[in-house]
Amino acid sequence: MLRCDHTTASIGFVTLVAMKTIIPAPATPSLPVVGSEQRFPVRRIFCIGRNYADHAKEMGSTVDKAAPIFFCKPADAVVSDGADVPYPQATSDLHHEVEMVVALGDGGRDLTPEQSSALIWGYGVGLDLTRRDLQAQAKAKGNPWDTGKAFDHSAPVSALRAASDVDVNAQTTLQLEVNGSPRQHTTLGEMVHSVPEIIAALSHLFELKAGDLIFTGTPAGVAALQRGDAFYAELQGVAELRGRIV
Ligand code: MN
Repeated sequence: MLRCDHTTASIGFVTLVAMKTIIPAPATPSLPVVGSEQRFPVRRIFCIGRNYADHAKEMGSTVDKAAPIFFCKPADAVVSDGADVPYPQATSDLHHEVEMVVALGDGGRDLTPEQSSALIWGYGVGLDLTRRDLQAQAKAKGNPWDTGKAFDHSAPVSALRAASDVDVNAQTTLQLEVNGSPRQHTTLGEMVHSVPEIIAALSHLFELKAGDLIFTGTPAGVAALQRGDAFYAELQGVAELRGRIV
């Protein structure tokens, strides 16, 4: 029985090494890391909805602390700092949502909030770009949010900063300017679900892995972006993101 297992494993290994793909294998999306030549490979992108009470209110919703809302974007939706973001197809109401992004350097499942902090590799700032018209249609019909949220180029993210290099706390400010005018501003202390609580809740739904990113929700002030708009997002002392809608 032991010999059988060994043989199977060896065959599996040889098969993997010799694998030729029937179509070109997609590249692994990745983000730059501040102060390093190495990049952070992106595995999945999880997002939480309604994590700031003032934003939930402006959307006509309320916060249900017991039932966080999660959705996903594809990993290759990431757009690096400084790159142009193409105005997406199929919408006439593209909205910005500035958010702190948490990058996981380790994984796990069924974690407590106390266990969850150990998974954090670093932080960045990102835009959860949203086709608000398609999201509104989906909400009205009780349909999934994918068409509103999970489109191509929907996740501009800054270079990431190692958690060991920075102090991220309740007083840390998160803000967005468009064409030099303030659009969104908050402190992280306004989050309904803290980062450890978000990671713990996700870990009860998915086995989290190194490389996963988490968008941690947006404060009030979401609004439309137009072609030609220049955006500047900042997580104070941690990360900056610049780009233009084209
Ligand atoms: Mn969001």
